[in-house]
Amino acid sequence: MSTALRYLMCAPSHYEVDYVINPWMEGNVHRSSREQAERQWQGLYQLLTSLAQVQLVEPAPGWPDMVFTANAGLVLDRNVVLSRFFHPERQGEEPYFRSWFEKQGYVVCELPEKIAFEGAGDALFDREGRWLWAGYGFRSSLESHPYLAKYLDSEVLSLRLVDGRFYHLDTCFCPLADGYLLYYPPAFDEISNRLIESRVHPDKRIVVGEADAVNFACNAVNVGRTVIVNQVTAGLAARLDSCGFAVRQTPLTEFLKAGGAAKCLTLRLTEPRTVELPQVQTTARTVELRGHLLDSALMTEVIDLIQKGGASFQIEDFKVGLRRQDTSYTRLRITAPSTDTLESVLTQLIDRGAALPEQAERDAELQPVNQQGVAPQDFYVTNIYPTEVRIAGQWVLAANQRMDGAIVVDPETASARCVLLRDVRVGDQVVCGVDGIRTRHQKARPDRSEREEFAFMASGVSSERRVELVVEQVAWQLRRLRQQGGKAVVVAGPVVIHTGGGLHLATLIREGYVQALLGGNAIAVHDIEQAFHGTSLGVDLQRGVVIQGGHRHHLKTINLIRGCGSIRQAVEQGVLRSGIFYECVRAGVPFSLAGSIRDDGPLPDTEMDLIEAQADYARLLKGAEMILMLSSMLHSIGVGNMTPAGVKMVCVDINPAVVTKLADRGSVESTGVVTDVGLFLSLLVRQLHYLGN
Ligand code: NAD
Repeated sequence: MSTALRYLMCAPSHYEVDYVINPWMEGNVHRSSREQAERQWQGLYQLLTSLAQVQLVEPAPGWPDMVFTANAGLVLDRNVVLSRFFHPERQGEEPYFRSWFEKQGYVVCELPEKIAFEGAGDALFDREGRWLWAGYGFRSSLESHPYLAKYLDSEVLSLRLVDGRFYHLDTCFCPLADGYLLYYPPAFDEISNRLIESRVHPDKRIVVGEADAVNFACNAVNVGRTVIVNQVTAGLAARLDSCGFAVRQTPLTEFLKAGGAAKCLTLRLTEPRTVELPQVQTTARTVELRGHLLDSALMTEVIDLIQKGGASFQIEDFKVGLRRQDTSYTRLRITAPSTDTLESVLTQLIDRGAALPEQAERDAELQPVNQQGVAPQDFYVTNIYPTEVRIAGQWVLAANQRMDGAIVVDPETASARCVLLRDVRVGDQVVCGVDGIRTRHQKARPDRSEREEFAFMASGVSSERRVELVVEQVAWQLRRLRQQGGKAVVVAGPVVIHTGGGLHLATLIREGYVQALLGGNAIAVHDIEQAFHGTSLGVDLQRGVVIQGGHRHHLKTINLIRGCGSIRQAVEQGVLRSGIFYECVRAGVPFSLAGSIRDDGPLPDTEMDLIEAQADYARLLKGAEMILMLSSMLHSIGVGNMTPAGVKMVCVDINPAVVTKLADRGSVESTGVVTDVGLFLSLLVRQLHYLGN
C-alpha cells in the first residue's frame, strides 16, 4: 500500500437524487436507494483504503451531492482551488469543503465571483504532473482556466466538452499512470481531440466505446497500476490488461443515477508534479496585451483563439485596471505542439494588438519576392488595424493599411507599405513570420460622448433596435462631417431604387452629404431607367405594378446612355435630367461602377476590368471617415476589405446574416442595421431636414 497517496471521500448519509442538473438525474428523482448507496460507497471505500489513505469530510444535511468530493476543489501540494459551482443546487457545499480544507492547513484559492469551476471533476492532472487537462463547456467556464494556470503554476490544456451526458471532464477522460489516457473522444470537439492526440502518443491512448462510456468506465480511480471502476466491458478490461493495468470493478449504480461513479466519489489530495520539461515537443513564446481586456471581452477572445488554434497558455502576469478608464495588462506564455501552430496563433494575437515583449523584439524578418505577384509562403497577412514593422531597430508604420495584403519594406528608406499580392514585384522585401510586427488598437476607451454616440450600435446587430434611433445617430454624424468638410462614401446596390430609396439618396447627394458613390452596373441602370421611364426593371415605382413590356425599359436605358457616350455626357447633353447619377454629375461627386458577370450592357461607365475597378474604389475610399453600405453585399464586402480600422461603417441590409458579416470586423466603429433600405433612406433624409442646416 502506498501511504503517500491520499484521497478525500464523503459518506452518502444524505445522498439522494433531489433535483435534475444533468441528463442522468432525469427520471431518477427520489429513485435511489440509500441502503444500496451506502453499501456501494463502502465497497469503493474499502477498495481504495487497501491502496491509499482515505480522509473523510463530514456530510452535511441538505446537500446530497456532497458525496461527490471530486467537485470540492482542485488540490496541488498545499494549495487548493475551491470550486464555484455552476448550479445553485450545489453552491451550498462550498463552505463545508472550504472549512475542511482550511482545517487541514491548505492554502485556499478562490476564483472571482461568477467564474464557475467544479474542481477535480473538470481538471485532471497528467499522471506524470506535466500539465493540467481542464474541461469546459457545461459546468466550469473557460475563464477559470487562466486562474488555474496562475494559482497552480501549471500549464493548462483546455478541452471543450460537447455531449451533455459527459458534463464533467472526469466523466469521459481519465489520465492513467505511465502517460496512458482512458477516454471517450466523441465527448470532445474536434480541436480538443486534436490537442489530446498531439499530447498523447497513439499507443498510450485507450479509447472507450459508447457502451463503456455510458457505464462511466472513464470515471475511474487510478492508483498506480490499478484502475477502480463501476463496470467495464470484457474488451476494455482486456485492453487495460494488455497495457499493464489491473481492473477492479465495484458496482456504483446508485450513484450513476445522479451522474457520478468512482472518480466523482473521490478527490485525490496528492498530485504529482514534475519540474522537468514536458517530454513532448512543444514550442513557446511570450506575448503581452494591454487595453480594456476585461470590459471589451478581449481576454476571453484571446483565450478562445489560443484554445481553438490548438495551443495552451500560462498567465505570467495580470494587472487589472481598477477604474473604468484604466487599462489592464497581461503577459501570457503560449505553448503549442509545433512552430506552425504557434505562429498561426501568434499571428491572430498580433492582429488583436498583442506584442512580443521587449527582450524578444527583433527586426521583422524579410524575404524577397522571387516571382511576380507571388509573396514568400510565410508572408504576414495584414488586417484592418494600423500595423508597425521593426526595421533596423525602429518601429515604422506601414502605409496604405488594408486587410488581406502583404507588407513590403524598403530597407533603404526604412519604409513599409501594404501591398496586394498581385502587386508584389520580384526583389520586393516582404515581411514574414511574426517577429517585429505589431498592430495598433484603440488603447483608451473612447470618451463618454463618443461612446454614447455609437454605443447602441457598437454591440453589433439587432433587427429589433429602433431604426429611428440609428437614423438619428447617422444623420448627426453625416451633418457633422459635412460641416467639417469630411468625407462620407456611399456604397449602394439596385435595391435602393426598387425600394423607392433613389429619390432620397439623390437628395443626400444634392445636399452635400455624400462625397463619393460606389456601386455596380445595376444601380446606375435602374436609377437612370427610373429617370427615363419611371420604372425599375420594368416595375412602376409609383404604383408598384409591372408595366407591360416594361423589362425593355432596362435595355433601352443602357442603349441610350451608350449612345450618349457616358452618364456624364448624357447629363451634359440634357438627356438625363434627374436621379442619383444626375445629381452626382451636377454636384461633382465622383462615382465608380464595378462590373460583374450579371451585368447587362454594360453602361460605358461600368469598369469591367476588375483590377482597375478595385483600384478605382480604393482611390475614392481614400480619406473616408464614414461609409454607408446600402443593400449591396457584393460591393460592401469588397469595400470592407479595403477599409482600415478607424472608419465608421454603417451597413444597412434586410438580411441579418449580411449585416453581421459586414459589421463584425472586431472594430467598434462598424455597425449594422437590419431594415428596408428605402425606409432607412427616407427616415435619414427626414431627420437631416429636421436638424436643418
Ligand atoms: P447583392 O446580392 O450583392 O446584394 C443585394 C443585397 O440587398 C442583399 O444583401 C440583400 O439582402 C439586400 N436586400 C434585398 N432587399 C432589401 C431591402 N428591401 N432592404 C435592404 N436590403 C435589401 O446584389 P447586388 O448588389 O444587387 O448586385 C450584385 C452585382 O450584380 C452588382 O455588380 C450589380 O451591379 C449586378 N447586377 C446587375 C444587374 C444588371 O446589370 N441587370 C442586375 C442586378 C445586379
